[in-house]
Amino acid sequence: MELHRSTCIVTGAASGIGRAVAERLTRAGARVIAVDRDAAGLATLAAAATLVADVTDPETPAALAATGGVTSLVNAAGIIRLTALDDVSEDDWDATFAVNARAPFFLTQAVGRILPSGGAVVNVASGAGKTGATVEAAVYSATKAAVLSMTRTFAAAWARRGVRVNAVCPGVIETPMNETVLEGIASIRGVPREQVELARNAAIPMGRPAAPGEVADVVAFLLSDESGYMTGQSINVTGGTITY
Ligand code: NAD
Repeated sequence: MELHRSTCIVTGAASGIGRAVAERLTRAGARVIAVDRDAAGLATLAAAATLVADVTDPETPAALAATGGVTSLVNAAGIIRLTALDDVSEDDWDATFAVNARAPFFLTQAVGRILPSGGAVVNVASGAGKTGATVEAAVYSATKAAVLSMTRTFAAAWARRGVRVNAVCPGVIETPMNETVLEGIASIRGVPREQVELARNAAIPMGRPAAPGEVADVVAFLLSDESGYMTGQSINVTGGTITY
C-alpha cells in the first residue's frame, strides 16, 4: 500500500488495536506519531515519534495539529466501563464520552482541517455502536454510535477537499479491553468468565475473536489510496457478526 509518504497520528497507540495500527503503518513505511497517556506502553513501541498525552486534555488537539506534515489521523484511544444498566452514573457517562466521543471529535476537527488533499481520518468505533446489544455497556455503545455519526458529518464536510473520513467497527478483538469486558460482564451476571467468553465466541459466525492486526489491516486500507472512493463508511471487522 502507498503509505510510505504519509505521516500518521495514531491515538491509543500504546496497546491493543492502536498499537497494532501503529506497527502496521510503520511496516508500510509511514512516519507514525504515536500518542497515548500510557508512557510505559509507548516506550516499547517502535514508532517515528511518541507523545505522552491525554486525548481529553483540551490542549491536545492544538498540540497535534501543530505537528508538521501530517497526512492522516487514527482515533483509536478508548475506554469502557461495564456497569449494570440501573447503576450507570453520570460520571460513567461523562468519563466515557470524554475519551470515546468528545476527544475524537475535537482531534478530528483540529487535525482534519489541516490535512492535505488525499489525507484521511479513521475512527475506531465498534460494532456496539450499531447494535447497542450488550446491556452492561450502554454508555460505551452510545459513545460509539456518536463516533459513527461524526464520521459521516466530517466525511460530508471534507469530501470536496479530498479528505476522507471513515470508521471501523471491530467486534471481539483480543486486547486488554476485551479482558475488561469479559471480567466485567462475568462479575455483573455472577457467572464464570469462561462462560461469558464461550458464549461471545459462539455468537461469532467465524467462531473466533480477531487479533488486533486484523483490524489494523483494514485501517491501513482505509488510509491508503486504494480506498480512494470511500468516505463516510463504517466498516465492520466482526467475523460476520454484523452485516450492515
Ligand atoms: P486497549 O485498552 O488495549 O487500548 C486502549 C488504549 O487507549 C490504551 O493504550 C490506553 O492507554 C489509551 N487511552 C485510553 N484513554 C486515553 C486517554 N484519555 N488519552 C490517551 N490515551 C488513552 O483497548 P483496545 O481494545 O485496543 O481498544 C482500542 C479501540 O478499539 C477503542 O476505541 C475501543 O473502544 C475499540 N474497540 C475495541 C474492541 C475490542 O474487542 N477490543 C472492539 C470494538 C472496538
